Amino acid sequence: MVATLYINGAWRQASDGGAHDVHSPHDQRVVARVCQATNSDVLDAISAARESFDSGVFTSWSFNERSALVAKIADLLERDADLIARKESDDTGKRFIEAQYDLADVIATFRHFAALGLKEHGRSVDVGLAHITSRIVHEPLGVASLIGPWNYPLLQIAWKVAPALVAGCSFIVKPSELTPQSAIALMKIIEEAGAPQGVANLILGPGSVVGAPLINDPRVDLVSFTGGLTTGQTIMRAAATTIKKLALELGGKNPHIIFADADIDAAIDNAVTAAFLHSGQVCSAGTRLIVERSIHDQVVTEIVRRAGLITLGGPDDVMAETGPLISKSHLINVSLYVDKAVAEGATLLVGGKRSELSEHADGWYYLPTVLDNCTSEMSCVQEESFGPVMTVEVFDTEAEAIAIGNDTVFGLSGGVWSQDAKKAARVASALRHGTIWVNDFGPYRPAAEWGGYKQSGIGRELGEHGLGEYLEIKHIWTNNAPSRSGWFRDHE
Ligand code: NAD
Repeated sequence: MVATLYINGAWRQASDGGAHDVHSPHDQRVVARVCQATNSDVLDAISAARESFDSGVFTSWSFNERSALVAKIADLLERDADLIARKESDDTGKRFIEAQYDLADVIATFRHFAALGLKEHGRSVDVGLAHITSRIVHEPLGVASLIGPWNYPLLQIAWKVAPALVAGCSFIVKPSELTPQSAIALMKIIEEAGAPQGVANLILGPGSVVGAPLINDPRVDLVSFTGGLTTGQTIMRAAATTIKKLALELGGKNPHIIFADADIDAAIDNAVTAAFLHSGQVCSAGTRLIVERSIHDQVVTEIVRRAGLITLGGPDDVMAETGPLISKSHLINVSLYVDKAVAEGATLLVGGKRSELSEHADGWYYLPTVLDNCTSEMSCVQEESFGPVMTVEVFDTEAEAIAIGNDTVFGLSGGVWSQDAKKAARVASALRHGTIWVNDFGPYRPAAEWGGYKQSGIGRELGEHGLGEYLEIKHIWTNNAPSRSGWFRDHE
């Protein structure tokens, strides 16, 4: 059965009947066949979103009513969590248990925004005049294009859909063409929960085919995008024509700094997780290890030993600790980064090639890789390989650690390990990244803002700001005792 588009409250085929297969990165079997939208389908979806928004069918709901809808979606997601996790592990190749963790995070996201909506009342401003009422009200921003990546498919979409619904926006969701199934399941749930017709629309297909209207069309007010830097730049250029609002969550090249006075055992264990979780296909992966020279040998020797022990495997392999890369082209890209780094002078200590196990022959399995003797100039250090590739640099002083940690065009996240609380706080403050972990790496919570400094993006998701991205702010000044302004003379 072909999974279809969802436009203006109806499930329908692409207008030219187009469809494509989705393959498992684990063994290349076809896990789904989905419609591929045409340009006219995308225009229909934008029309539906625009008309539903302008009709007031959803904007007339109170924040409390929209919060209740979002809470109901969370309940339905909970009901279907394992079914959706299965689809997500089919599409991504990640272990089923990891997909289950991701679904729990998706549900927590919907619950967070449902609760936040209940607190949304705008505010009054005291302008010091008894006859004036001054109110700041928050209104839905309009029509939003919500475009997601393949690494955490439903989670990244949830960070956009949940606040968009609470705010009262109408929207078009476009998941990655590589991982569309969980977004399709979410749209069915939004329909079941009772969102008005035309508010939520789903477009499927590659960005190169279906993306242009989503980012160009003057009827779209906001583009909220999570994905790579290059696509983010394309979107920013396209959005300039009509001055669309932008929320961009782009890549990261995240420094992970270990001082000699750290809890070394915990730091090493977290460094392994930071770099190799989900085979490095994480925007906040700690793939750039920056270690104090005096502990370099001890730390790197142990990380290399641990990396060599990591068990790769498919969605249902209970012994597996991480899975395959998303696609053949991504695997080729990751290996090119490693080969180039070695050519530039890095020392390959472990990994650096595809898994040679027979059970991985049909999948895109790349071994956890550690590159030592790296320098800031290397492309593997500066650019996202988005694979299981840790680069190692050394420092001698605190200032040098900070300088290396900030020597990147990105600014998404970073970590610092030290048992000297004052030093750790100084470094955390000096690093120009949107999230800093001290003596930890990786946790996030829906109540805390997430987003990037510098070229890692614009705006913030989650927290309270994550709702603000979908709201316009209006000041309403009411004069309760009107009188003449008296500014201009009304006589000769
Ligand atoms: P990508 O940029 O290739 O694609 C992301 C989405 O954009 C996909 O749905 C794709 O179809 C669509 N797209 C591509 N070209 C488009 C165009 N011209 N117009 C409109 N849409 C277009 O990214 P990816 O490979 O799917 O995801 C990996 C990237 O996402 C990494 O760089 C990673 O760091 C980033 N990411 C960032 C965060 C964050 O929170 N900052 C989270 C997850 C992933």
